[in-house]
Amino acid sequence: MTDQKIEIEHRYLELPDSFYTRVKPSPLKEGRIVCFNAPLAQAMGFQATDPSDWAGVGSGTELLEGMDPVAMKYTGHQFGVYNPELGDGRGLLLWETVGPDGRRWDWHLKGAGMTPYSRFGDGRAVLRSTIREYLCSEAMAGLGIPTTRALFMVSARDPVRRESIETAATLLRVTQSHIRFGHFEFAAHHHGEKALRSLLEHVIGLHYPELAELPEQERYQRWYQETVERTARLIADWQAVGFCHGVMNSDNMSIIGETFDYGPFAFLDDFDAGYICNHTDQGGRYAYNRQPNVGFVNCQYLANALVPVMNEDDVRRGLRNYEIAYNQRFLQTMRNKLGLAKESETDLSLIMDTFSMLHEHSIDYTLFFRGLSSLSANGRASVRNLFVDRSVADEWLSRYQERLEEEEVSDEKREAGMRAVNPKYILRNYLAQKVIMEAQNGDYEPMERLLAVLTRPFDEQPENEEFAAPPPDWGKHLNISCSS
Ligand code: AMP
Ligand code: MG
Ligand code: MG
Repeated sequence: MTDQKIEIEHRYLELPDSFYTRVKPSPLKEGRIVCFNAPLAQAMGFQATDPSDWAGVGSGTELLEGMDPVAMKYTGHQFGVYNPELGDGRGLLLWETVGPDGRRWDWHLKGAGMTPYSRFGDGRAVLRSTIREYLCSEAMAGLGIPTTRALFMVSARDPVRRESIETAATLLRVTQSHIRFGHFEFAAHHHGEKALRSLLEHVIGLHYPELAELPEQERYQRWYQETVERTARLIADWQAVGFCHGVMNSDNMSIIGETFDYGPFAFLDDFDAGYICNHTDQGGRYAYNRQPNVGFVNCQYLANALVPVMNEDDVRRGLRNYEIAYNQRFLQTMRNKLGLAKESETDLSLIMDTFSMLHEHSIDYTLFFRGLSSLSANGRASVRNLFVDRSVADEWLSRYQERLEEEEVSDEKREAGMRAVNPKYILRNYLAQKVIMEAQNGDYEPMERLLAVLTRPFDEQPENEEFAAPPPDWGKHLNISCSS
């Protein structure tokens, strides 16, 4: 299953043993591989000649030599309330591998059964949510947004009780690190300075080797600032593409700044600034327009955890960079989306007014920007057609066109650049829902086809035009809630 160049490690086990519990996966019945990410496997240094070789690992019936599964312990703030009881309740870190290009990969089997941190849960993941995570992590990767990845997926026969009876599945999730902000909260609030330092040095050593030689306080300061900035840039990317995470608890915040833990996420269809994708988030704490602030609050939780080992001034300085990094990234991305290469003082107000207009008139976010990306061809009509009141579109378009006069590149060149940043294809919830229904009937072809489309979201794919369509009425308000 492997070529020679892979190294097997399990560096997480070097942490104090309060950070994990060894747990064996609980086997699933008749598990079979239903999706396998061959290009990713290859990049990681594994052959994918026969994906079914991985069915045993994915079903929890087989461990390869060197796999030493652990449930990671972490805590975190859920909806603003600190919960000391968290940890991997249904996932296990199997091992870490280092690929031929030197990249490190954590292998995490999600849905592997109960652990000491399962609390009231059954340790399982259902097919529906596993497909959603698989699809969305690969869609995000296609969009160029940092994310955990899906290596393969197993579907099994075991019944799992949710609102109705569903069936179990597992996801082999891979990423450079499964460490969360909540790991730091756990160390600081329950084990003190020594554990906290071990964790900090572990993360810096594995993921920021360039900081390793710096004096301690500088090393910590630089690391914290980088973590804050990555988080800010990630959330700016989400806002710019119209992604709602849905459960931005601090235990779902990746320490390396990736999109992490796909649950009730959604990409916006019609733009709605206050959109709440998580059905159980009644207060709208994690609404689309609150995500930037929630990212900051999570960085504050991380800051509180770091105070025992860092200067408060250094922590504050790091935290101040959140807003700077966020604004920079967001403004730059929006300027790219609008094709504004020259900087003008009026750009920010143009951008803000654009958002207000999209909100007020409930305009499909993705279609709007994609339409603008071929304005000189047929885009003008497709933008206007998104509006019930065409005069609103006309007014906006003339302001935009006036602004474009300041640009120096040709329309063709600008629009080609815009098409490279304004996706044509996003993972709309209704598209996910359709392939889930087919998969539940045993047909994974539609899922494979959707995946192939989402891997190149910026390309025109005339044969896949249907995947760019806005949702039909049934697909507009699908109820999706937390863990399933
Ligand atoms: P989430 O809302 O997905 O971030 O999950 C929050 C916590 O609940 C994490 O500690 C998960 O490991 C745990 N959890 C979620 N679903 C289950 C489940 N079905 N069984 C056990 N633990 C779960
Ligand atoms: Mg989680
Ligand atoms: Mg989850």
